[in-house]
Amino acid sequence: MGISPYEMMKEQLEKAASIMRLERELLEVLKHPKRVIEVSIPIKMDDGSIKVFTGYRCQYNDFRGPFKGGIRFHPDVTKEEVIALAGWMTWKCAVIDIPFGGGKGGVICDPTGMSEGELERLTRRFTYALMPVLGPSMDIPAPDVFTGSKTMAWIMDTYSAFKGINQPGVVTGKSRSIGGSVGRREATGKGVAIVTSEYLRIKGESIEGKTVAVQGFGNVGSYAALYFHRMGAKVVGISDITGGIVNPSGINVPELIKYVEETKGVKGFPDAEDMPKKDDILYLDVDILVPAALEGAITELNVDHIRAKYISEGANGPTTPEADEILSKRGIDVIPDILANSGGVLVSYFEWVQANQGYFWDEEEVDRRMKKKLSRATEEVYRTSEKYNVDLRTGSYILALSRIQEVYRDRGLFP
Ligand code: NAD
Repeated sequence: MGISPYEMMKEQLEKAASIMRLERELLEVLKHPKRVIEVSIPIKMDDGSIKVFTGYRCQYNDFRGPFKGGIRFHPDVTKEEVIALAGWMTWKCAVIDIPFGGGKGGVICDPTGMSEGELERLTRRFTYALMPVLGPSMDIPAPDVFTGSKTMAWIMDTYSAFKGINQPGVVTGKSRSIGGSVGRREATGKGVAIVTSEYLRIKGESIEGKTVAVQGFGNVGSYAALYFHRMGAKVVGISDITGGIVNPSGINVPELIKYVEETKGVKGFPDAEDMPKKDDILYLDVDILVPAALEGAITELNVDHIRAKYISEGANGPTTPEADEILSKRGIDVIPDILANSGGVLVSYFEWVQANQGYFWDEEEVDRRMKKKLSRATEEVYRTSEKYNVDLRTGSYILALSRIQEVYRDRGLFP
C-alpha cells in the first residue's frame, strides 16, 4: 500500500477542516497525537526462552473525555498505524457524541503461533508496562484484531491486582461475569447493519432484499453478515484469510458461523462455491459491499473493479483517499468507518457506564439505546454532508470536528 494510514487520516482531516474552515491552530493540534508510548515486553515462552515484544499505546486526544480504543495483536502493527487508528477513534467518538477521546494500542506479534499461556503473559506484562497511563477515567482499552474478551479479562485482572481494588471500568469488551455488557460482542457488526439500513431508509430505500458481500469474517464481519441476514438482506459473498465463498441465492450465515467455529475458515463451506481468489469478494456485483478485514483494502489500483452501489466500512480505514475520490465521482456512497463501525465503541461506552455505576441493563435496554444513538448519528452525518455538499466521510469529519472545536473553545488551551 502506497499511503500510510496516518497520512490517510491526516489527508481526510485536512480536507474536512478546509471545507468547514476549522480554526487553523486547532487543526495543527489535531494533526498530532497527545502521547505515544512504546514499551518492550519481555516474556517467558513455553520452551523456556525469553522473547522481547514491542507494544504501543497512542493516546491521541482527550478533549471530550478519557482516551478510548482497542488493542491489536498482529505481526504488521506499526507505530504509525496505531497513531492513525487512535486518531480515527477520536473522530468516531465525536461523531456518535459519546464523552470519550481517542486511543489505540498494538503489540507486534503473531498470536496465531502463540499458546494461550504465552498470550496471557504477553497481555499481563503489556498491561503492567502501561499501568501509569491506564484507568477508567484516563484510558480505557477494548478488543480489536486478534484480541477478545479473554484479553480484556487479563488486562482488568492485572490492573485491579496492582491497584488493590476491582476496576471493571478500565477495559470494555469483557465477558458478562466480570462486568461486561450484554450486546458488546456483536455490537460492531450489528451496528454496521443498523447504520447501513438507516442510511438506506433516509435515501428512501429498504435493506430487505439487498445483496451484500462481506470481506472478513471475524468479530465485525461475522456479526455484520448475521444482522444483514436477519434484516432480510441476501448475503451472497463472504471471505476471510482462508478464501472466499459465493452463493447467488444467499449464504446461510448462521450455518456458516457454526462451520467456521469448527474449521476456522469459510473456505469449503458446503452450501456455496469457493472463489478463485479471496480478493474477488470486493468485485462482486452487489448492492452493499462491507470491507471488514483490515485497512487499505480499496485503493486506486483496484477501485475501478468495484461494482457495489454502497460501501459500508466495517474495518477501520479500508478505503484510501484516492479511491474515495474515484468512488465519489462514480456516485458510489461510502458510509465511512467512523460512522459505520461505531456501534462497537458505543456499546463499549454503555459497558463503561454500567460498570462504573454497578447497575446492569438488559438486552432490550442496550438495543433500544443503541438503535437510537446510531440512527441519530446517521441522520446527523447525512444532514451535515447535504449542508456542505460533500461525501459522507467528509460530512462525518465535519460533524466530529465541530463538536471537538466547541469543547476546545470552551476549555481553552493550557497553559
Ligand atoms: P478479527 O481478527 O476478529 O477478524 C478479522 C477477519 O479478517 C478475519 O476473519 C480474518 O480472516 C479476515 N482477514 C484478514 N485478512 C484478510 C484478507 N486479506 N482478506 C479477507 N479476509 C481477511 O478482527 P475484527 O475485530 O473483526 O476487526 C476487523 C476490522 O474492524 C479491523 O479494521 C478493526 O480495526 C475494525 N474494528 C473492529 C472493532 C471491534 O469491536 N472488534 C470495532 C471497530 C472497528
